[in-house]
Amino acid sequence: TYIIAEPCVDVLDRACVEECPVDCIYEGGRMLYIQPDECVDCGACEPVCPVEAIFYEDDVPDEWEPYVSANVDFFDDL
Ligand code: SF4
Repeated sequence: TYIIAEPCVDVLDRACVEECPVDCIYEGGRMLYIQPDECVDCGACEPVCPVEAIFYEDDVPDEWEPYVSANVDFFDDL
């Protein structure tokens, strides 16, 4: 799955939402989240993010690693 990290906070540009073919990017509070069970790993969202907040899960920079579990937990808590 792809993950949205800290640069999205308080930005929520939503260009990725337009791009996602399976509509698996959801708004949650101060940022957007990718539903990991629905994401088909197409990568279409990554290049359109103006703040480069989107990463493949294995490529998330160390400083934003907590966002991987935060992204999953967001949907677990719904
Ligand atoms: Fe949607 Fe593709 Fe991005 Fe997954 S990788 S969130 S399916 S646009």
